[in-house]
Amino acid sequence: MREISHKLAFADAPVPGRFGDVFDPNNGGVQARVALGDRALLDRAVEAAKKAQPAWAAVNPQRRARVMFNFKALVEQNMDELARLLSSEHGKVVADAKGDIQRGLEVIEFCCGIPHVLKGEYTQSAGPGIDVYSMRQPLGIGAGITPFNFPGMIPLWMSGVAIATGNAFILKPSERDPSVPVRLAELFQEAGLPEGILQVLHGDKEMVDAILDHPDIAAVSFVGSSDIAHYVYKRGVDAGKRVQAMGGAKNHGIVMPDADLDQVVNDLSGAAFGSAGERCMALPVVVPVGEKTAVALREKLIPAIAALRVGVSTDPEAHYGPVVTAAHKAKIENYIQMGVDEGAELVVDGRGFTLQGHEQGFFVGPTLFDHVKPAMRTYREEIFGPVLQMVRADNFEEAIALPSQHEYGNGVAIFTRNGHAAREFAARVNVGMVGINVPIPVPVAYHTFGGWKRSAFGDTNQHGMEGVKFWTKVKTVTQRWPDGGASGDSAFVIPTMG
Ligand code: NAD
Repeated sequence: MREISHKLAFADAPVPGRFGDVFDPNNGGVQARVALGDRALLDRAVEAAKKAQPAWAAVNPQRRARVMFNFKALVEQNMDELARLLSSEHGKVVADAKGDIQRGLEVIEFCCGIPHVLKGEYTQSAGPGIDVYSMRQPLGIGAGITPFNFPGMIPLWMSGVAIATGNAFILKPSERDPSVPVRLAELFQEAGLPEGILQVLHGDKEMVDAILDHPDIAAVSFVGSSDIAHYVYKRGVDAGKRVQAMGGAKNHGIVMPDADLDQVVNDLSGAAFGSAGERCMALPVVVPVGEKTAVALREKLIPAIAALRVGVSTDPEAHYGPVVTAAHKAKIENYIQMGVDEGAELVVDGRGFTLQGHEQGFFVGPTLFDHVKPAMRTYREEIFGPVLQMVRADNFEEAIALPSQHEYGNGVAIFTRNGHAAREFAARVNVGMVGINVPIPVPVAYHTFGGWKRSAFGDTNQHGMEGVKFWTKVKTVTQRWPDGGASGDSAFVIPTMG
């Protein structure tokens, strides 16, 4: 069986003691096993990173940027292979897998401009004969812990900015689809990144805990589910680290009575069911405003859902593929049953979906619930599957309260032709990323990504300038070059420059 190894800066790693299964979601079998590392392996990786990092930090930023340019070109050359590999372990369709990698590459494009953003600040004559300047310096060694659902994009969100700013980076990707992160690290090396600056260590909780406790890792960036994000945040901060930890989501799409419903149905189909709903920016809750909107939307949604094609991830005609594991499929189907038990109306039931020739694959058919209520557990919790829940609201105020009061606050969208309503919504909604007639408002790479409430712990977003801030520390220098003459008396009061 294929074995997926770590990507380390040393060749004599001990034989792994534990392995995890990597499934083929299209067929349900185990296609590979991944080595799971331990504390001892992490210690060695950190030692290698410590040796390599000072020289990398001293490389002038335009040379570091050149590695980013080379890497971008290499990923583009290898896009088809990477997308197929990603799709074969994750289960998202190949075109969507390309999008996953492309969104990560856009962060690399941002990193190609790193000399510009690292320029620092300078004030001449901040006081008599005194100048003040500040510079951003790397933290040293950073680590990233990433989820299964974007094995291309999220490792690149973190590693791109961490490396471009002069850090060494240790990536602990999801053990469910670990191959693409390793391939990306190999391509980074081919692009000219020195050995030891990017290492990939596979593992589960044991490796995560080892990272959080390691005294030489200065910062940890985490993306995954909220309970684990909160745990990572607390344990990492306790150990004195800088931590950003992004969590789960329950994104709402508000549909105003004046919205173009055909467009909304198109947008919702992709945003709720694309990637089998396994996106933190999926739109699994739709909130039609007013009875007429609800009835008309439901009427249009049912045939649109019936027209969705669920297929193997290599099927170019498929709208979405299988979910990632049998356990995840069972979890989604349990939530569907829970929704029925809680009294929501199951309009389209995706349970029991099978694909001829792929009966053991982890497929879940598209599912629609209507009359979902805010008190229901299936509304409060993240399902992370191809399940769309309709929560009816009587008016705008009721609609804006739903995402605002939900414990998650990642993304939200409003569909309307009314600029005033949209503007009001964007200003008032208690959620971090807002789409106006845009169903999946993932910001471009030079802006930043991050939710609010239980969708993110810590106060710094991913990528863009927030990412640069996270992966660097500011040093501020106040300088004076006296002309040699005595400069007056000793000062016993706090200096002011007035
Ligand atoms: P997960 O929380 O199960 O795993 C994330 C990472 O944590 C993995 O690397 C995993 O190995 C590790 N991990 C798992 N259990 C652990 C434990 N008990 N202790 C320490 N570490 C542990 O998440 P997932 O299922 O891989 O990914 C899906 C989740 O990620 C969803 O909740 C989704 O909303 C969220 N997500 C959030 C964002 C965001 O930016 N907010 C983006 C993508 C995904």
